[in-house]
Amino acid sequence: MDHFAIKNGVMHAEDVPLPRIAEEVGTPVYVYSRATLERHARVFREALDDVPDKLIAFAVKANPNLSVLKVLQRQGYGADVVSVGEMRRALAAGMAPENIVFSGVGKTRAELIAALEAGIGQFNIESEEEGVELAEVAREMGKEARCTLRINPDVDAGTHDKISTGKADNKFGVPISEAGQIFGKLAGEQGVNLRGVAVHIGSQLADLAPLENAFTKLGELVAALRGAGHTITHVDLGGGLGVPYKQGEELPSPAEYGKMVARLTQDWGVKLIFEPGRVIAGNAGVLLTRVVRVKRGIKDPFVIVDAAMNDLARPALYGAYHDFTAVEPSGADMTANIVGPICETGDTFAMGRLCDKLVAGDLAVFRTAGAYGATMASSYNSRGFVAEVLVDGDKFAVVADRIDASSIMDAERVPEWLD
Ligand SMILES: *Cc1c(COP(=O)(O)O)cnc(C)c1O
Repeated sequence: MDHFAIKNGVMHAEDVPLPRIAEEVGTPVYVYSRATLERHARVFREALDDVPDKLIAFAVKANPNLSVLKVLQRQGYGADVVSVGEMRRALAAGMAPENIVFSGVGKTRAELIAALEAGIGQFNIESEEEGVELAEVAREMGKEARCTLRINPDVDAGTHDKISTGKADNKFGVPISEAGQIFGKLAGEQGVNLRGVAVHIGSQLADLAPLENAFTKLGELVAALRGAGHTITHVDLGGGLGVPYKQGEELPSPAEYGKMVARLTQDWGVKLIFEPGRVIAGNAGVLLTRVVRVKRGIKDPFVIVDAAMNDLARPALYGAYHDFTAVEPSGADMTANIVGPICETGDTFAMGRLCDKLVAGDLAVFRTAGAYGATMASSYNSRGFVAEVLVDGDKFAVVADRIDASSIMDAERVPEWLD
């Protein structure tokens, strides 16, 4: 459920009519709903009511906007970060260092140092090599890094290949078959307090079975590690829960996920960490765009909008589907190809899509754009970076300025010897 709905013929974000935002801020622009973010944060937390000891760490990469992070911080959320840049955002949003978890296969030495200095709660180590380096850095700094070892459980998450992370040939984590031996080695290193294990098998999961399979394997590993004399107090179950992108699409609910987790983990006796991203932010945002013109096609017309693949990359990257609807639907519809202005055929949001009838100048939205939207934006075709707005009831604020092409050009220089 979200707070984007047609009222009196006009789509609103909560109580703000979208044309007002287009008027004042211009298009394209991402529009987020605070009430929707809060609702999703609450629903996910309540789904885990039966898990006594837990940390919910929002996956910052899904939507790193400072105001979005602030909303979630006020809901008691921590952060799962994959770079020092994201760590700084989480800290700036007021998240406590101990509620920050640092994931990622390529943390640099400088990032390890910065995260140790900040005193973050947990490093999810993704390789033996990283663990050895982290231990060395921590010893030099006279600190101890709290860690889990990320396990690659070799399960097929059944999602798009580019966002599947738990198969044996993916780059993430250590193979589950070697986990006991690597854990033993790293647990003996001074400088790290290796106190648990972690998994994250992929994103936009439409089925709980692969998660259940991965968590079951993890439970067996925890028992084996304890059997070998290790103390296990923390287990990180990652993120990955999918969201409906199409009207009427059925996906496992947070409640079903929570029940499964509570059932599998009830005897583990650990603190559980969760890293939801998409399920919190996805349906809390839309990309608002204006139709530049409608061009005749061989078969269907091309609705050319002022948003493009540089603003919303998911369709070009993953062939992803986003609902596309008029802000002021007339009731008539059309079958059209929805495209952006960028000079690539990949800049196509949909082909042969049945949608509301649109003409030049009309406003429309791509729905479910609150996660992996603005955060993936680029300035390709010198289009500048898209603006972001947060709505709260009947008020709204620009929470990220549009960075226009000329500001980006200001960061470039022609060397003297070329002039
Ligand atoms: C991307 C990512 C997440 C969040 O995934 P969602 O599908 O958005 O919930 C969580 N943990 C890690 C390690 C990730 O890389």
